[in-house]
Amino acid sequence: MDYSNHPENSAKSYYLPRHGLDFSLSDHFKLIEFASKDGTDQVLVHPALIEGLEKIRTHFGLAVFVVSGYRTARHNRDIGGGENSLHEFGLAADIMIKGVPPHKIAEKAESLGFGGIGRYRTFIHVDVCGSNRRWKG
Ligand SMILES: [Zn+2]
Repeated sequence: MDYSNHPENSAKSYYLPRHGLDFSLSDHFKLIEFASKDGTDQVLVHPALIEGLEKIRTHFGLAVFVVSGYRTARHNRDIGGGENSLHEFGLAADIMIKGVPPHKIAEKAESLGFGGIGRYRTFIHVDVCGSNRRWKG
């Protein structure tokens, strides 16, 4: 995977009213799962993010729940997200898998070459941008 693209240029832009609530990004992920929780119609998602999430899904053989995908800058600010969060560029997802401890998902994410991996109590953050960043929330 090549994560060296500049963030703003690399995600694909979707528009919910056009693509529909049932639009599939891949075998197991629907566009609506990545929509900003403030109800914005535009959704940004990078194909490499979906590709990596599909690999996690395949590895565990279990549904990957997207806690947070794309966020508009306003929504990111409203929920106290970091400045210039990669969620704002469609490059990041917070995920969880029912019955799988977050550290197990993080271990798999490490092996797949995600750019950033954040470990939190109930979920992990993964993103597809640049250098290796690791943190605990
Ligand atoms: Zn995140």
